[in-house]
Amino acid sequence: MSRAIAGPEIERLIQLLARLPGLGPRSARRAALHLVKKREALLGPLAEAMAVARERIVVCRSCGNIDTSDPCSLCCDPRRDDSQIVVVADIADLWALERSGAVAGRYHVLGGVLSALDGVRPEHLTLDQLVTRAADPRVKEIILALNATVDGQTTAHFITDALAHLPVRVTKLAHGVPVGGELDYLDDGTLAAAIRQRTGF
Ligand code: ZN
Repeated sequence: MSRAIAGPEIERLIQLLARLPGLGPRSARRAALHLVKKREALLGPLAEAMAVARERIVVCRSCGNIDTSDPCSLCCDPRRDDSQIVVVADIADLWALERSGAVAGRYHVLGGVLSALDGVRPEHLTLDQLVTRAADPRVKEIILALNATVDGQTTAHFITDALAHLPVRVTKLAHGVPVGGELDYLDDGTLAAAIRQRTGF
């Protein structure tokens, strides 16, 4: 047990910050100190933003995204392509794809991937909702944007089977050489997948 270096209020702030991903006790102390020093410019606005987030953020019942409205702004956006649903494991993946600007369609957040090791079974994910959405006649393609891990691929196979009775095309991301990537730096799995999934030139 490390010795407390500040009053209980500041210690509490440090302890809470230390629970954030990527912040250990040391960086949590630095962040807490920074916040306390910048009380007017940072701590106040941050506390207000967090209070608003706590009040207003909801999970979209259609796609599983988080937003301040349900259905979320992505589900409501009329410019998006209703014929495509991109399936992701987590909201972080949705955000990454949105940043890339590569997705014109809608999303579906599974809330994880199937995992025998972690006890994640189909009923723990939003698979039923996905099948319901995929049955909409406007939907033509389901794009599985899942990690190239064993669990990710197990989940992809499960979804493909669950959608087999529907007239939708199920596609997945090509796993291969990243743009700008040098072959020498790739791990063996990526390189092998890139060779297997080679495309015409
Ligand atoms: Zn949504």
